[in-house]
Amino acid sequence: MRNRRMTLALAIIMAAVLSVACGRSEYSARAVNEETDRCAQCNMAVADDAHATQIVMKDGRTLMFDDIGCMYAWLAEHGDGDVGASFVRDYHGLQWVKTEKAYYVYDASFKTPMAYGVLSFADKADAEAFIAEQGKGVLMAADELPDHAWKVNRDMGQAHGEGAHGDDGTHGRGAGHGDGGGHGRDAGGDAHEGGAGA
Ligand SMILES: [Zn+2]
Repeated sequence: MRNRRMTLALAIIMAAVLSVACGRSEYSARAVNEETDRCAQCNMAVADDAHATQIVMKDGRTLMFDDIGCMYAWLAEHGDGDVGASFVRDYHGLQWVKTEKAYYVYDASFKTPMAYGVLSFADKADAEAFIAEQGKGVLMAADELPDHAWKVNRDMGQAHGEGAHGDDGTHGRGAGHGDGGGHGRDAGGDAHEGGAGA
């Protein structure tokens, strides 16, 4: 009896070991929640788009990133010791793909949320087609990513300039946001459509 149980336990352990050894991963990607997900590296909101990436930690936690460059910046800082798996998305189809299985195209001029300029593709052929279409871009396999320079394209971040804060005047106008957008709830009276509000 006892012996039998031992055998059973052993069999279960063997099965577990085997399934791990065969690369059957228990980690899977989850969907982006645009309302609550923030990039674990730069703290920006994560858009549910082709640039989102994620790390599933060995303890089951998920770290979301808004740009694959942020994921590699995070990995450079924290290492991958606690990382169970990581995922990127196909640029066209948006499906999640294991980071190590995807192909990447880099050009400084490609627009990504944090301006790292690296795009991910599930298929090598799609990545190559994209390069041909754009007339620029360097193809990289996943194992080249850790050595990639991960430069932010500064030209793209220049929006902030010398900014005029239009901060002087007192706003004390009280009523009426006169601009058509949203709100439409309050503001009694007969809703004039299309502005001219205040
Ligand atoms: Zn980020």
